[in-house]
Amino acid sequence: MRIKFLLWASLLAGLLALSVTASAADLVLAASGKSDYQIVVPDASPSPEIGQWLEQTARLIQDAFKTNGCEVSVAPEGKRDPAKPGIYVGDTVFARAHGVTVQAFPDWRYAHKVVGRDVVLAGRDQPCPIPQVADRKPIAWSGLPRLGTLKAAADFLRQYAGTRFLYPGETGVEFLPTPVIAVPAELNVVKVPPVLFNFTYWGQNSFYEMANNFFPSVDTNMGVHTWPEAIPADTYRETHPEYFALLGGKRCCTAKDYRGKWTEQYCISNPDVRELIYKELLDKIERGYETVGLGQPDGFQPCQCDACKALYGTGDDWGEKIWILHRDLAVRLRQERPDNKVLIISYGQTWSPPKSFHKFPDNVIVLLCRMTPEILNQWSECQVPGGFASYLYTFLGGYAPVTTPVDIEAQVKRLHAFHVRGAYQDSFYGNYGLMGPAIYVYGRLFDDPAGLRAKDLLQEFYDGAFREAAAPMRQFYDTLYHAVQFAVDFPPAYEDVTGRKRGHAEKDSMKRMTFIYSPDVLQELGSLLSQAEKLAASDKVKRRLALVRLEFDYVRHIATIGHLWNAYRVVPDPTLHERLLDAVDGWNAFLDPLFTPDKGRYMKYRIPGWPELVPFAGHSHYCVALTKDNLNYTGYYEHTPLNWNTAEIRKEKRGRSGL
Ligand SMILES: [Zn+2]
Repeated sequence: MRIKFLLWASLLAGLLALSVTASAADLVLAASGKSDYQIVVPDASPSPEIGQWLEQTARLIQDAFKTNGCEVSVAPEGKRDPAKPGIYVGDTVFARAHGVTVQAFPDWRYAHKVVGRDVVLAGRDQPCPIPQVADRKPIAWSGLPRLGTLKAAADFLRQYAGTRFLYPGETGVEFLPTPVIAVPAELNVVKVPPVLFNFTYWGQNSFYEMANNFFPSVDTNMGVHTWPEAIPADTYRETHPEYFALLGGKRCCTAKDYRGKWTEQYCISNPDVRELIYKELLDKIERGYETVGLGQPDGFQPCQCDACKALYGTGDDWGEKIWILHRDLAVRLRQERPDNKVLIISYGQTWSPPKSFHKFPDNVIVLLCRMTPEILNQWSECQVPGGFASYLYTFLGGYAPVTTPVDIEAQVKRLHAFHVRGAYQDSFYGNYGLMGPAIYVYGRLFDDPAGLRAKDLLQEFYDGAFREAAAPMRQFYDTLYHAVQFAVDFPPAYEDVTGRKRGHAEKDSMKRMTFIYSPDVLQELGSLLSQAEKLAASDKVKRRLALVRLEFDYVRHIATIGHLWNAYRVVPDPTLHERLLDAVDGWNAFLDPLFTPDKGRYMKYRIPGWPELVPFAGHSHYCVALTKDNLNYTGYYEHTPLNWNTAEIRKEKRGRSGL
């Protein structure tokens, strides 16, 4: 018994020692408020922008050390103090001399390497090879620089210095107390992130984005629906009507869609059409893209001419015609531009893989725009040596949560299992307050999709983001995501007995909102958030909670109106009607101060002290207020009281009652 006790005691002592000091096999960079280290940056950078990012990286490392009581200096390599060991950031002479040659890194991989007492943190820092349009802010869609060293530094800080990257902006970075900053003395890893890109259209470069594997396209052109880019109707419809599809006896492009754009469909048996589609690939390569997108128009309509019907001997099988055309273009590109790749969409007619061939040339990446088990099963039978990318809608759907960590975890693991090497999110991140933990899970999982678990990442998020208020916030999100799971699990539509496809919440978004945010859920979320607000002590935690409060109030206003509207329709009582009008006024009083008063009604609000985070993705009033003009993201609210003109209604009521 006694022996056992001693054993436990020594084990416990060992564990305690491990948790507060470094083991003998570690290289200690800082301890007890002291550090001998300096941060060393390259003497020159490939571009001024990259130079600035490396300076910011050095400052961030300084801040992490400073939080633990250590001042470390920053020096360009040529002016470093030879007496001090260094943390070498980026493509330094020292790194190259010790075998870290980042210029050869083809992707977002980075190196962490200990050499004696020195540490190298470096990835490839590459200016965006695509010339940018002057006066337009560069975005992830059209290419941003590759900042591999930012990723190297962010992972170093997270793994060894207690730093958490929880939201965009300075308020989003948390430095957890780490009395000993140490790395394994034998540290020598090259970490290869599993994705070549992972971005939204408006994505940017930032520590938050790099830390969470949100990588911009750099030199990949997503393309998607590229035929209209190759053969714009505005350029060709009058001079070459024969390029366009024969539809109902007429060459198309006689009609414009609701946005005023020509509905462009093509006659692909025409060799000039195929040539122009190919030329567009070459044009993009000339502009600097390494991988170029290729895809048929959205809402594809087949040409009805005889030559098209006979094309490739596939009759009416247009999916097959498109696959053969795209495959042939890829084969030609492989001969003429062997260093480039082509990203071909699997979409609409081409959801399913080709039937007449089962292996793609190795310069093809297939962009899967739908990943149902049935479609993935079909693709598993087809060889795509260049791999897959995925076009996702994970976060699409509005300013209230639309997905949950359970679903996100399953999705990322599914992507990984299918060797998906790139992801484009047709979404925007408009609700970091309610969705911050879920977005964090999505991003961080890419650090190790097979090994990491959502439940650990959520805990990491709650502890880092809410510190002293973490306990009620964990419960808050547990309640929230449990409530939202209904919307995730619920099939959006089903087929009824007559074969009609019927949506469950079609034209009735309030049904969804009142179901998710039931009175019990609203009450519980409100009470947990208030508890957290009382516990919050640090400025950063207070700001993060202010963001949660803003977005919680947003859904609370909508759901409250929904509940009162339901009640009034069940019991059309004048008092209830007044309460409903008051709730609509409350909704407008909540929204109005967030926007400029001018005609544009642009988002002007920021959480005080957090200028980098733009609430509701910076969208204008008509979007965030769910008015009838905005059908893109939010569903159908135009028949709900959210858009009632309460002043008019009150005036009418007064008129009717003769007051
Ligand atoms: Zn045709």
